[in-house]
Order: sequence, then C-alpha cells, then structure tokens
Amino acid sequence: MKNEFSRRQVLGAAVAAGLGLSPRGLGAADGPGVTVCNPLRRTPLSLIIDDSCPVINKAYYWIKQRHDWRLKHAPNTAPSGWEVHYDKLDRMPNAIPAAFAAEWGEWCGAQGIRGKYSMVPFPAGMGRIDKGFPGFPEHQLRDWLRVTKEIIWKSFDLTPEMLTHTRVVNLKTWELTELWEQGEWVDPPLDQLTQYITTAMQLLKKVGIACEGVTSPGGFGRRKEEGYARAILDAALQVNDNPRPFYFLNMEMEEMPTVPLRHVEKDKGIAIASIVGCAGDWFGATGYDTANPDLFITADLQGGRLPAVLAQERPCVLVGHWPGFYANDRIGFKVLKEVKKRLDAYDPDHTKTIWMKNSEIGHYWMARELSELSLNGTECRIHTRFPTSNFTLAFPGRAATRVQVDGTDLRLVRSQRDFRSGAFLATEKETCAAFDLKAGDTVLSITG
Ligand SMILES: [Zn+2]
Repeated sequence: MKNEFSRRQVLGAAVAAGLGLSPRGLGAADGPGVTVCNPLRRTPLSLIIDDSCPVINKAYYWIKQRHDWRLKHAPNTAPSGWEVHYDKLDRMPNAIPAAFAAEWGEWCGAQGIRGKYSMVPFPAGMGRIDKGFPGFPEHQLRDWLRVTKEIIWKSFDLTPEMLTHTRVVNLKTWELTELWEQGEWVDPPLDQLTQYITTAMQLLKKVGIACEGVTSPGGFGRRKEEGYARAILDAALQVNDNPRPFYFLNMEMEEMPTVPLRHVEKDKGIAIASIVGCAGDWFGATGYDTANPDLFITADLQGGRLPAVLAQERPCVLVGHWPGFYANDRIGFKVLKEVKKRLDAYDPDHTKTIWMKNSEIGHYWMARELSELSLNGTECRIHTRFPTSNFTLAFPGRAATRVQVDGTDLRLVRSQRDFRSGAFLATEKETCAAFDLKAGDTVLSITG
C-alpha cells in the first residue's frame, strides 16, 4: 500500500516498450534523406509543478487528513509518505498567498521557464475553486484566479490534479469518502473514472480555465494506465474539445525518458501524450524533504541527473511540489533559482536547450512520430493531422542555398544561435529547416 502513494518509476523494460528514440531523436516520421530533429535542434526543458491549488497549502491538509485517517482505519501502522512530517504541522503554513504565486510566476516568466502548473479544483475538500473557501479571506480566491490566469498560464499549462488530491469525492453529495484518490484509485472502477476526470476539468472550465491535460495525484490511475489515458482523452474531448491532451503520471529516474503516445487515431488527429518526469523532487516537496540543487546539476555543471539526460538530448522534465517553494523560508524557490542559474551556465547562448510547456512537448512528439514525410529529389512533402510550432527537419548531405515552405522562403542562418522557426541552417554536412507545421499538406522545396 505504501508505494501506491507515489508515482511509478518507469524502468528499463517500460522504456524499451515505449517509442524508442535514438540520441539524435529519430522519429517514426523519418523518411530516407530526411529526419525530424528535436525542436530547433535544442533539447526540451520543462518544469512540472504538482500540488499547487488556490488558497490553501495542500501539504498541510494532506498530512492532517492522512494522520486522522490512519488513526481511524489503521492505528497499528506506521506513518507513511508526507505524514512523517506530522510533528512539523505547527511550522507549516495552512495557506499560500496569491502574492507569492504572482512573484513566483513573474520570476519564471522573466527567466523563460515553461512547464505545467497544477490547479487542484477542490483541494483537500477545503473549498471549491468555483465557489470559495469558507474560513479564508474572500479576496484570496479572487486573487489566486487572477494570478493563475494572467501570470502563470502564460508560461505553464494548467491541469487539475483530480478533485481533492486527498480523499475521493462522492459526486452526488460532494462529501469526502474514506477512500484516497492516490490510494484506492490507483485502480479505480473504469466507468467512474471518466466521470471523475470530467468533473475535475469542468470545475476549472467554470472559472475560465480550459486545461491542457491532467496530473495524477500520486499513483492515481496507474494500475490501468491504458484505460486511464483513454478516460483523460475522452474527458478532454468532451469538456474542452481538445483532441491532443497530455497527462503526467510517470517518472523515469534511471534510464532515459521518452514521450509515449497512446490512443492514436492518425487520420483524425487524435492522441494523448504521457509526459515523463526525469528527476526527483529535490526542491523540498513539503518544505521539509530533500532540497538540493546538486542532485539536479552540480556547480561544475558535470554531475547530477540533468546533464546526463541533456547529453542524450532527451526531454528533460523537472518535477517539484508547490508547497516546498513557499514553506520553510521558500526553500524550493531558492533551489530553483540556483538550478536555473546553473542551467544557464550549461547553455549560455541558448543553443542547446529550449524551455517548453508540457503540451508543447506532447504536440511536438505527435508531429514527430505521426506525420508522414516523403522526399523526392528537391521536394519534401509532409502530411499530418498533428500541427506543432518549431517543426525541425534535417537533410543530411545537403548544403542548401534556398529552402521554401509552401512557396515562402525561409531565412538562411549560419549559426545554431540564430536558428529559429522560419529559418534554415546550412552547413557543408547538412541542411536543417524549421517552421510551424500546420495540419494538412505542406510542401518544402530545397535547392542546392
Ligand atoms: Zn501531487
């Protein structure tokens, strides 16, 4: 039972079963003489924030409710998960001010950090995002919604992390049950799953947030991942008319992460991407867990998990829990600032990495894996139902003098530093072209 509370760590076999990528990042869409590269020949970086919610500090209530639950249902067991911090509750804030979220979001925006930010719609059952939080100052929810939509959403996808992230809600009465979302609902009844996820998405929709995907609270849904992914896709189509959502459930801490795609309907442009975290939460989680920038990337930029993943040019997705960025004197925010400083030193001229939202990574991998490419002499045809920005092709052995996409010239650049969407980079060894890929047919012509 203990492990049900945490995310799955995908190990070697699961990776082999996923969509394999060579270090260069070759995808299924590759044809002879042309390959799909990483976006703008840069490795994606992304920051996932879990457990963020309006007004309250989810860690505080999770610990309190789990403690009460254990005393009632399993008094002879030892505390597990975050409940080990029960003795620190009096040091933990029970709320996180919107002003802090604004400061954090503005800093991330200025730094160019992009990723995913959870918005738990009925956090710990303490208040509904569309109705209010009894016992807390009324303006806090209003301020939180403004900050989330106007500041954070610019750089981060917003997702529910199911309804409460603590106990399961009875959708008829809106009362909390004795089951836990990340406990019993690692293997939920499938017929109820779609309804539960749909409800979570609808609560966000009611306050003007069309979410781009979902985050699993802990291991929620993990024992029936195929069905879970189906339920998310159905809910996303139903609530937000979104045919290409993503979900975050899995972590890959040892092997190299991939971007598995599920429930692909190629002709309809429908698929769902699994965004996989590649490093542990070393931002402090509750504020009282491991907080150490060196585990991400050491001061000499050689050690830690991130350089290993970046060296293989795989999507490098960091994961942190929101409470730790604020609690304990903002310990997680300090770690983030240090990690960002080191990542900037690792890639000082921004030629190697590119920050992306989770949805942007999902859309890119769909375009990469599910588009059809054919090369005939100087003409490359692309057929896809999966649009993306920054679509990047490499033509080995060609030093082009001119590249056009649907009759429009791309701009010639000579260095990776200047390589952007709408440009082509020609060297003696190869030509790379980047453009925003639309759904339908695209013709690229390459001369020289
Ligand atoms: Zn969580």
